[in-house]
Amino acid sequence: MSKRLTKYRVTDACIICGLCEASCPFAGIKDGISDRGFPKMLIEPELCKGCQQCVPFCPLGAIVPGVQQELELA
Ligand code: SF4
Ligand code: SF4
Repeated sequence: MSKRLTKYRVTDACIICGLCEASCPFAGIKDGISDRGFPKMLIEPELCKGCQQCVPFCPLGAIVPGVQQELELA
C-alpha cells in the first residue's frame, strides 16, 4: 500500500457520479471505500499529480485540499 500523501481528498459527500474520474488525465481518482465502509471515489496517491483539474468537475464540491486518509481502492 502506498505511503505517498495526497494533495487532495474526497469527502463523504461523494455520490460516485464519475465526473471527476473522467476529467483526470492521469487516472488519479478511482472507485474506493471510505473509512466508514461505504463506496466513494478515492485519490490514487501514486498517480495523482495534484493538478486540481478534477476539482471543478465535482458537482458537490467533494474534492478538497488535504491529505486523504483512506487508501483502500476498490
Ligand atoms: S488533482 Fe489532477 S491528477 Fe489528481 S485526481 Fe485530480 S485531476 Fe487527477
Ligand atoms: S465528481 Fe464528486 S461526487 Fe462525482 S464521483 Fe467525483 S468526487 Fe464523487
